[in-house]
Amino acid sequence: MAKKAFKAESKRLLDLMIHSIYTQKEIFLRELISNASDAIDKIYYKALTDDSLVFDKDNYYIKLAADKEKRLLTITDTGIGMTQEDLENNLGVIARSGSFAFKQENELKEDHSIIGQFGVGFYSSFMVADVVTVVSKALGSDQAYKWESSGADGYTIEPCDKETVGTEITLKIKENTEDEHYDEYLEPYRLKSIIKKYSDFIRYPIKMAQDGEEQTVNSMVPIWRKNKNELTAEDYENFYAEKRYGFDKPLKHLHIQADGASVYRAILYIPEKPPFDYYTKEYEKGLELYSNGVLIMNKCADLLPDYFGFVKGMVDSEDLSLNISREMLQHDRQLKLIAKNITGKIKSQLQSMLKDEREAYEKFYQSFGRQLKFGVYSDFGMNKETLQDLLMFYSSKEKKPVTLDEYVSRMPEDQKYIYYASGESIDRIEKLPKTELVLDKGYEVLFLTEDIDEFALKVLMSYKDKSFKSVSDGDLGIEADAGESKTEQEEGGRKELFDYMKTYLSDKVKDVRASKRLKSHPVCLTTEGEVSIEMEKILQAMPNSQDVKADKVLEINVNHPVFQSLQDAHEKDKEKLALYTNLLYHQALLIEGLPIQDPVAFTNDICKVMV
Ligand code: ADP
Ligand code: MG
Repeated sequence: MAKKAFKAESKRLLDLMIHSIYTQKEIFLRELISNASDAIDKIYYKALTDDSLVFDKDNYYIKLAADKEKRLLTITDTGIGMTQEDLENNLGVIARSGSFAFKQENELKEDHSIIGQFGVGFYSSFMVADVVTVVSKALGSDQAYKWESSGADGYTIEPCDKETVGTEITLKIKENTEDEHYDEYLEPYRLKSIIKKYSDFIRYPIKMAQDGEEQTVNSMVPIWRKNKNELTAEDYENFYAEKRYGFDKPLKHLHIQADGASVYRAILYIPEKPPFDYYTKEYEKGLELYSNGVLIMNKCADLLPDYFGFVKGMVDSEDLSLNISREMLQHDRQLKLIAKNITGKIKSQLQSMLKDEREAYEKFYQSFGRQLKFGVYSDFGMNKETLQDLLMFYSSKEKKPVTLDEYVSRMPEDQKYIYYASGESIDRIEKLPKTELVLDKGYEVLFLTEDIDEFALKVLMSYKDKSFKSVSDGDLGIEADAGESKTEQEEGGRKELFDYMKTYLSDKVKDVRASKRLKSHPVCLTTEGEVSIEMEKILQAMPNSQDVKADKVLEINVNHPVFQSLQDAHEKDKEKLALYTNLLYHQALLIEGLPIQDPVAFTNDICKVMV
């Protein structure tokens, strides 16, 4: 019989499996049992709508048998089985579950520990077996088929005999090597402990013969129905991995056993890292939804608000109907109650993390802070009250992220506002001339580096009765240093000079004026009105931007020697004043990280000053 070759990606993955140095080879069993359980689920679901099919619980099980002499381990299930076509399509091609598809082979090679966390499923059996044989008979079919492969060189499929519907997978366990004792996968006690570890909650009995007696190994009690005290952190981590909620180790789990107005159980996780597609529109939030222990939906989006869309996990409620449709579910009162309850629990969990486990919270915030800020901003600020205490921003004083509460609680008496400055990076903001006055005054400034930050603060408007104030705002609410009084003549001269400069830059800035905030720098750009320079950059970068512009003000430091040069030019040489105005304006643009319209003209201007 001719051997068929695996599809290219499958072959590569197989190679990896066969040569894997991955230490937790034991997970192959978890994968095979999970497939068997899925296959029984499929019959169960069919029976719900198909009257000719009766699901009698006693007839559905998974069975393990080990033959030490022949080195054979067999996993049998009474599930839905596979047709010849299914065998071809499902076992000849990988990445059906999609979890593998997005991880590149290279990445896998670098870090073998990743393998165990992937949905590599069926193929993981090649980590422990030289030959894998699958005999299967599909529901509603008369003919059974045998699929066999000894690894990368391909597989065969041929008709065979099998009485009952279901699948039987036989692994020819590898010979021991110096570092690997494959024998252990033929030892009942060892197999039992692997099942206990990963598959205890499987809903169907996993039977195994030991000392001539058949017993059911798994408790069949799902983890969420167990008492919290009986469970270890490892149990929750294993459940997270087994369910493929993520490939990271979760930062935190919540086990909810609610018996109030809404009765439900839930296990929720706060992941450490965002999935690769988290901040794209491809990402789908949602929790698994069970009704009385039976999965009815993979991703029930209505259970989570968008701003907590990163939460993973499952909910089991006894009050939901099995056959409920998606549309009906959306309007389900019970579900709404659960969602509300869950949202509250997640919030208090995050708050207690912030309070008691700052380091973990900062890790979380690194990954999902952006999501929380979007949450404040979206829906017209409807959720800002819920989220404001979870926000953090980089502090000029602490040199690390701080909460708004921490900021406000150490504000000096005379400080009126919560100050912030935005820019591309902490480093750049620190050097912005316009932050000088506020920092010199000893006030703490929040440095905003993410595009969403300023928008979120605009929606918040204030925190504990303190308004937010940008350091580039016209009125900083800081008393100017007394002493410097000018004669009317001086004022008049300045006004004329600034008016001249303003006319010259008329299409570019709204005003030119003497700066109250500059100390050592000659010039800076500030804004009037709602749109800041950072917001202008973001809005301009958006597709179909409406060409929203900030109302810019060019501020000149009248105590800087450059101001004297401007005055001299104003008196003697208007052409020179035009040149200087131009140069100062462009310098201000550069400092703000704004593009210069005509860099060639700008460099020519500099040359004019040099010669
Ligand atoms: P996944 O379970 O993520 O889809 P696997 O590699 O574990 O990926 O399995 C591939 C596919 O093979 C399954 O989706 C299923 O269609 C089929 N399959 C595997 N094992 C069985 C089984 N015991 N009974 C029926 N179908 C199975
Ligand atoms: Mg699988």
